[in-house]
Amino acid sequence: MKKIKIDQETCIGCGACESTCPEVFVLSAQAKSTVVKEYRTKNEDEGEVEDIGCVEEAEDGCPVDAITVS
Ligand code: SF4
Repeated sequence: MKKIKIDQETCIGCGACESTCPEVFVLSAQAKSTVVKEYRTKNEDEGEVEDIGCVEEAEDGCPVDAITVS
């Protein structure tokens, strides 16, 4: 199980995570990255996935390090 946390204060809404990993990340109407409903835990900025490799790619590709996968 991988936990995802998005720091929405830091997110600049560039859309890179959504492009890299659209199964998991989607930009909100406020242009902040969110976890799609399917994988959300509590809030839109937190989620859990089993076996989706692109979450690490999205973490690595975020220009402001707003995504943490643990
Ligand atoms: S890649 Fe980072 S800065 Fe860009 S939308 Fe995703 S979380 Fe926000």
